[in-house]
Amino acid sequence: MYLVDYHMHSKYSFDGHEEIMDICEEAVKRGLKEIAITDHYDMFEDKKYARSLKYEQIYADIERAKKAYEGRLIVRKGVELGQPHKSLRESQEFLATYDLDFVIGSVHNLEDALDVGDYNFKTKDINTLYLSYLDSLIEMAIKCDFDVMGHITYPMRYLYEQLQIYPNMNLFKEPIERLYKILIERGRGIEVNASGFFQTIGRSMPDLDLVKLYKQCGGEIITVGCDAHYLRHIGCAVKLGLDVVKSAGFDYITTYEHRQPQFKRI
Ligand SMILES: [Zn+2]
Ligand SMILES: [Zn+2]
Repeated sequence: MYLVDYHMHSKYSFDGHEEIMDICEEAVKRGLKEIAITDHYDMFEDKKYARSLKYEQIYADIERAKKAYEGRLIVRKGVELGQPHKSLRESQEFLATYDLDFVIGSVHNLEDALDVGDYNFKTKDINTLYLSYLDSLIEMAIKCDFDVMGHITYPMRYLYEQLQIYPNMNLFKEPIERLYKILIERGRGIEVNASGFFQTIGRSMPDLDLVKLYKQCGGEIITVGCDAHYLRHIGCAVKLGLDVVKSAGFDYITTYEHRQPQFKRI
């Protein structure tokens, strides 16, 4: 099995902790063949970490790691853009500045600097909230440049953490299909975010049913990532994530070099 982890954060992310070289060492220990380091770049002016990252330094560190691990581990230079449709020009300038291998497009925030994860779900109607989250994903899918869309069921992680509820996702089938079709038409993919396997939600984001739906819609591009913020989570759930991908009917996984998709048999 080709073990890859295509979503992780180093010490350069506001919520990350680890040195890039330590991440690579851990990945090798875990038997991973390839990783993408995807520190945050979020698009809200008033968000506490929005402008604090030092991308020159991150990418210089990744270049050093690429060389140091040549022949043992493929290290890809990535980013996780947060709601790039909220600052379209800035996100385009960022992508034009750095020669990246891989770009995740995610939504963490809807209309303000408050992360969806910080909502009090007792006071929210999840149907209304998730429909507006999907609207935001659809807007990003139409307007923005990225390779795969990150954790499309992100609010469910926090809903489950707070209230131990997982809604009937059939309620959202129509807008999710619409989202998938736009992604497919534009040559983008989705990620299976395996971090849910080590969080209380206990399943990937999206889960197997929604990955099957993606396949039924004609989806081909799919990555797996653990969204690790600590060394102990690097690659820790990739096998479970790859099982979801396989169970949905895929026999390959997507990796990227210079933003070009490659397909590896799993
Ligand atoms: Zn994210
Ligand atoms: Zn992340």
